[in-house]
Amino acid sequence: MQNNSANPLLQDFIETCKTHNLKVTPQRMAIYRELVDSTEHPTVDAMFQTVKKEYPNISYDTVSRTMLTFAEIGMVDLVEVYGGAKRFDPNVTNHHHLHCVSCGKILDFHNDEYNNLEIPDHVPQGFKVLTSRVVLKGICNKCSNPGNVSP
Ligand SMILES: [Zn+2]
Ligand SMILES: [Zn+2]
Repeated sequence: MQNNSANPLLQDFIETCKTHNLKVTPQRMAIYRELVDSTEHPTVDAMFQTVKKEYPNISYDTVSRTMLTFAEIGMVDLVEVYGGAKRFDPNVTNHHHLHCVSCGKILDFHNDEYNNLEIPDHVPQGFKVLTSRVVLKGICNKCSNPGNVSP
């Protein structure tokens, strides 16, 4: 087992687990570490494939339950994807998404104007808005230039 005490991210993780009475296991730690490392907004399946390399005996169910627990306690976010598998977002700060409708890739982007979007006075049915996120749908660079092979 490696020494994680120097890593502030894992220190935070351990603190959050303690707050929520969640046992810190090496598997949970690995899932969290891989999630935070990922910029792909991975599905449970993608994360299972990654974590399995380090923990060959881990079950899909464990990965799935762990990720949902992380989302429940606000350690990670769930991305609004309509239909298809749930996608997880380790970036819980205010940011926006570029969503490729061709390959399904979701990229983060930051924009001050979008961060301060004005919410209309009359949101229907007395709905109280807590946060807002802008999702720009389109075609990513890779999908619009499929033949593009780097030199
Ligand atoms: Zn794409
Ligand atoms: Zn994101």
